[in-house]
Amino acid sequence: VEQGFEVAGIRQHVQRRDHVERAVAAHGELGDVQRVQVVVALAAARHLLQALSEPFVSEGREISLSASAGIALFPAHGDSADTLLRNAEFALRNAKRGGGDIVVYSADDKDADPEQAMLAQDLRLAIERKELELAYQPKIDMKRRCVVGVEALLRWRHTQRGMIYPDTFIPLAEQTGMIDPITLWVLDTALTQSRAWRRAGRHLTVSVNLSALTLRDVAFPDSVATLLRKRQADPGLLILEITESTIILDAASARAIVKRLAAMGVRVAIDDFGTGYSSLATIRELPVNEIKIDKSFVMNMRQNPDDAAIVRTIVELGHNLGLQIVAEGVEDAETFEMLASLGCTEAQGYYMCRPADSQTLETWLRESPWGMPEEIDEAEST
Ligand code: C2E
Ligand code: CA
Ligand code: CA
Repeated sequence: VEQGFEVAGIRQHVQRRDHVERAVAAHGELGDVQRVQVVVALAAARHLLQALSEPFVSEGREISLSASAGIALFPAHGDSADTLLRNAEFALRNAKRGGGDIVVYSADDKDADPEQAMLAQDLRLAIERKELELAYQPKIDMKRRCVVGVEALLRWRHTQRGMIYPDTFIPLAEQTGMIDPITLWVLDTALTQSRAWRRAGRHLTVSVNLSALTLRDVAFPDSVATLLRKRQADPGLLILEITESTIILDAASARAIVKRLAAMGVRVAIDDFGTGYSSLATIRELPVNEIKIDKSFVMNMRQNPDDAAIVRTIVELGHNLGLQIVAEGVEDAETFEMLASLGCTEAQGYYMCRPADSQTLETWLRESPWGMPEEIDEAEST
């Protein structure tokens, strides 16, 4: 190890010797040369992370970043750029999962799912390869029985694997630090679509899902403001969906961020309501406009009186707080009517429309009984 420091000429950068030594010791399978590599790589990573953690000021606000690093060594951990990157990515995911801020890849960690590792690598390129798409699912006003908005749902059209759904790749995006650029891509695309609808005389709200991690990013409201300006979008037509767990996870910072978004005129919805443990107080303290009843209750409310009771309670609660109450997962007419008679304000589900690409939605808007023919809309809005 000593020799490694000398060879690399980096003694001054290695601040946590104990950390380095432990890491080197943990890599007993490596030869001498590679042990030196580990030392050099750890020092370089530590140096980078330290540089990143220096707080800086942007638009009058102090921002500090934290980062993690994953390390793979040539040739011990791979002899092609692809393999090396994949293994470094894997180490990075371990770091993010709490294995430390810097993790060196180890062949022992072979619970590693190589599928996941490959997917993570592809995900990094998905935006520039234009493989991401948005599907839109209509939200129906229960009194007027017509569409009032849509929820944007992310899809990944992978060249080899075909369509991949968000439950598969959003967690991966969160672990690999890709969630922020992806969220911004979704917002940008949804706002662009929203403007196209507005120009066609269609006043639809557009809802975008936020990951819990996004609400830890103090710069997020500024990014939203920039995109709203860039796309000349009406903030009142944008609804950001957050889950109960998001707020609990990092309550203070999440609350501050939600408040700044609301102050910009953006609307806020609590998604998957009923599945978390947020107290009423938390919700009341936040500038929330809408709660979405989780589909697990809605889908079973016809057969299961307990679920029906939960739905009824949430609807009452929402009314008392003056909120919009959206039921998701409405799969049949009977459920729709039950919800309507409870006083639920909006419904979303396969019964009315499955999530659809913008072209398919265009046809649905014109032809479906729930849709919104342009002429009628214009007549109504004048
Ligand atoms: P979610 O926000 O609860 O979205 C609703 C999910 O329920 C969607 O699945 C939708 O296709 C599905 N769904 C809608 N109506 C019905 C119905 O009547 N019956 C049934 N069985 N399902 C219905 P999807 O599109 O696969 O999305 C899954 C989850 O992925 C979303 O759950 C959301 O948490 C997350 N997600 C989707 N897009 C994004 C995104 O852009 N960013 C982030 N962070 N998460 C996203
Ligand atoms: Ca949602
Ligand atoms: Ca939901």
